[in-house]
Amino acid sequence: MSGSASDHCYKAIRIAAKESSKALARTMHPEIENKNQQQMLAYREMAEDDLFTKQWVKVELGAEEFPGYKGERIVCAECGEGINFRREVLRDGRTLCRACAGERYYKPL
Ligand SMILES: [Zn+2]
Repeated sequence: MSGSASDHCYKAIRIAAKESSKALARTMHPEIENKNQQQMLAYREMAEDDLFTKQWVKVELGAEEFPGYKGERIVCAECGEGINFRREVLRDGRTLCRACAGERYYKPL
């Protein structure tokens, strides 16, 4: 399996937490001063529709987004490390990991 030929469009439900649930928690349990405890209790009692918005969406997902995906083994031309999840960078015709391409996000200790 490789590349965009295996990418598809899927139907999915997008779930998002409602910001308004915090205010609702205050009205449900004004007797609890600790906000965290107030929300923990209220969220258990609240209806799903008061907690989350639900929305049918169309989403494009590559094969690598699914469990068990086995991609072709890509190896950095500079350091020889294996590169996962299409994070390789093409520089001057060479395939590099992000670190070797100058995009290192960490510092060796
Ligand atoms: Zn490298």
